[in-house]
Amino acid sequence: MAASVSASSRVASRRHMGSVDAGAAMEKIRAAGLLRTRGLIGGKWVDAYDGKTIEVQNPATGEVLANVACMGNRETADAITSANTTFYTWSKLTASERSKALRKWHDLLMSHKEELALLMTLEQGKPMKEALGEVNYGASFIEFFAEEAKRVYGDIIPPTLADRRLLVLKQPIGVVGAITPWNFPLAMITRKVGPALACGCTVVVKPSEFTPLTALAAADLALQAGIPAGALNVVMGNAPEIGDELMQSTQVRKITFTGSTAVGKKLMAGSANTVKKVSLELGGNAPCIVFDDADIDVAVKGSLAAKFRNSGQTCVCANRILVQEGIYEKFASAFVKAVQSLQVGNGLEESTSQGPLINEAAVQKVEKFVGDATSKGANIMLGGKRHSLGMSFYEPTVVGNVSNDMLLFSEEVFGPVAPLIPFKTEEEAIHLANDTNAGLAAYMFTKNIARSWRVSEALEYGLVGVNEGLISTEVAPFGGVKQSGLGREGSKYGMDDYLEIKYVCMGNLG
Ligand code: NAP
Repeated sequence: MAASVSASSRVASRRHMGSVDAGAAMEKIRAAGLLRTRGLIGGKWVDAYDGKTIEVQNPATGEVLANVACMGNRETADAITSANTTFYTWSKLTASERSKALRKWHDLLMSHKEELALLMTLEQGKPMKEALGEVNYGASFIEFFAEEAKRVYGDIIPPTLADRRLLVLKQPIGVVGAITPWNFPLAMITRKVGPALACGCTVVVKPSEFTPLTALAAADLALQAGIPAGALNVVMGNAPEIGDELMQSTQVRKITFTGSTAVGKKLMAGSANTVKKVSLELGGNAPCIVFDDADIDVAVKGSLAAKFRNSGQTCVCANRILVQEGIYEKFASAFVKAVQSLQVGNGLEESTSQGPLINEAAVQKVEKFVGDATSKGANIMLGGKRHSLGMSFYEPTVVGNVSNDMLLFSEEVFGPVAPLIPFKTEEEAIHLANDTNAGLAAYMFTKNIARSWRVSEALEYGLVGVNEGLISTEVAPFGGVKQSGLGREGSKYGMDDYLEIKYVCMGNLG
């Protein structure tokens, strides 16, 4: 009898364990000096000018982790001024000097890997293993762009007249406003700030109100690394006010944004008045095509990774799993079995592979999409409801026989729900895959090499994974087509958005 524990007391003890661990985790972060709650302007940690704060909560428990400064237009204006002043000194350093500071920042991020990962799990909810992976991934952009800083080459063009010399210079664009989402609290920042600082730009970062603590800790390490005061500023709080100030300022020369397509469109429209360069990494609606000729184990493993990373809350998550008729039943049963093995829980617990969703609104969105699908004839093969852990936990879910009239097909669910959509031919799969305004990531599973080329070329997407579900890396270009965005981040192409091209014509050279 003693061994039989009721479901509710099991939940309570898991929560208790989570909160005990959370206390120890916060202590570790505090002891490392990385629990920052004020904004960073001109190298100084500052409160909101009106003293307002916002709560940062742990989505796994609802506990308040910290109260951070809730800033708005006045603080943003000062951050822009500080970035603009610092631009004139930071951009004049040699590439090698900037590179050394960035390299040191990378090393500090890596040596504080555990504290940063704990912070990320606490405020975002992702399992520790994924959080540690994000620190590696996030830091890799700083290392890569520290190296690229030294490779910003210009050109010499053969002149059209004998006494002229024609040169092309590449110069930093100036002050950059960087607005980032909550799902990758570190990497979405470093993927922007790394190339910006490497080129000689200075930055005002606005992290999401849900995950400012990781951003502030990373900024603290940047200061420690010798990135000068004012080169990297962080403000958070009232998103529309901060966004408006960044857009209206003539000193801000570029807006770089990762987040929803709706907010991206607002920022693009708002930047028109000052004709700013804009780069946008927006929402996706990734197809994941499993052909009859796929290796089923590879397809299950790849689709599982592409769908369930960060509990389905990534822009490159497989949103629609298109499965060819001949393999549908076999794939569906192997996939359901694999999904059943996912462990839902507090990200601080070692066994957890699926954390909570970011908040209640995210769960309600998932419920709406699943309800819409079942009301139109789809069948729940696994899950389909909130998890017994409560809070914003949702069961890993597989929905069969999804069709293109359902929300699960047309929009990003951003949760742990895998819709299976049967198809007959390659042409039909390509048509279904491209039947969306989004165009970020796509995946396919096939053993046929000719088909993998043909379909890769036909997919209207910025990234394509063939027989692989995890494809992001700092050395390859990341970005979308259609309404998934503009510009590329990471890789050598990731520098271009932070550089202006200047043509210099030297005449009368005799
Ligand atoms: P979101 O609501 O668009 O928020 C993103 C950022 O924009 C946050 O910092 C948010 O601030 C800020 N924001 C909101 N309204 C604003 C406004 N009027 N002016 C200026 N800033 C504003 O997106 P999210 O829910 O955080 O992130 C999920 C979305 O991001 C998904 O669609 C996902 O696909 C996309 N995403 C895309 C990529 C990519 O690389 N393509 C990567 C990751 C995520 P607050 O949070 O403080 O309100």
